[in-house]
Amino acid sequence: MLNKTKFEKVLSRVINKNSARCSKCKRMFTQPCHTFGGLDAEGKVHNVALCCRDYIVDMRHYGVYTTLPVNTAEGERQAKELLDSHPKDASRY
Ligand SMILES: [Zn+2]
Repeated sequence: MLNKTKFEKVLSRVINKNSARCSKCKRMFTQPCHTFGGLDAEGKVHNVALCCRDYIVDMRHYGVYTTLPVNTAEGERQAKELLDSHPKDASRY
């Protein structure tokens, strides 16, 4: 079982390696979308989009993938809109 700190470390590595794609099916993100971070049934950390959400059995992180540059007003608005509409209720906490 990964503790929170360790999980976040692994997750950021996974996100770095899969910066614009789903780490499970490797499909590129073509538009802004919601992301889900957590562990699959094998205990591997993944950062996925809705396509592979069901593979995450231990949901730990909700994120967004944005296409606009961060640290700009447009980018922040896009990120906020995505976060506000994040389907978190689909989690299995
Ligand atoms: Zn996927």
